[in-house]
Amino acid sequence: MTLIDHVDALLESAGTPPVVAAGDPVLRRPAAPYDGQLGDERLARLVRLMRATMHAAPGVGLAAPQIGIPLRLAVVEDPAQAPDEVLAARGRVPQPFRVLVNPSYEPVGEQRAAFFEGCLSVPGWQAVVARHQAVRLRGQDERGREIDEEFSGWPARIVQHETDHLDGTLYLDRAETRSLSATHHLTERWSQPTPALAARELGFPLPVDA
Ligand code: ZN
Repeated sequence: MTLIDHVDALLESAGTPPVVAAGDPVLRRPAAPYDGQLGDERLARLVRLMRATMHAAPGVGLAAPQIGIPLRLAVVEDPAQAPDEVLAARGRVPQPFRVLVNPSYEPVGEQRAAFFEGCLSVPGWQAVVARHQAVRLRGQDERGREIDEEFSGWPARIVQHETDHLDGTLYLDRAETRSLSATHHLTERWSQPTPALAARELGFPLPVDA
């Protein structure tokens, strides 16, 4: 099946597609740069489908390989609904819906921030990842306009996670594996604003400046 046939099949099927789970090679191959292969109208429809799939999951980001499309496209949107102390500790502020085309990032400064995160392709689990506290993100939006922007805090985490997907990297590749926790443990034990208690109890390191 060609790429366009694949996209059209997704667009023609009812509802939102299932999110591809870890173990599928599409999540492990670098995605191809987007250079207009789909045309504007089909791209717009695919973006709408990705947004609907992200909302249905629900999640705060989705990369095209997560619905089986090996292109460097991702969507992000975060209403930032959590207790105030959690939002403050994580630097989590609402992010409007946006489309990232061919994104890449580089760290800004040395600081890292370590928090639990999860992935729609790894349902039922979360783990602590020490990520760059701030990154410079470059790429385009869905209309081809250049993006060159600094992100920090939780939005920086989201754009790193989604851009990593496009390079065939899952958050688990960067995680403290001893922090791996089933969702019910997250809810019952590790819902504190920071993972400090989890680090002590499960035995994993945190960055010294986190
Ligand atoms: Zn993910």
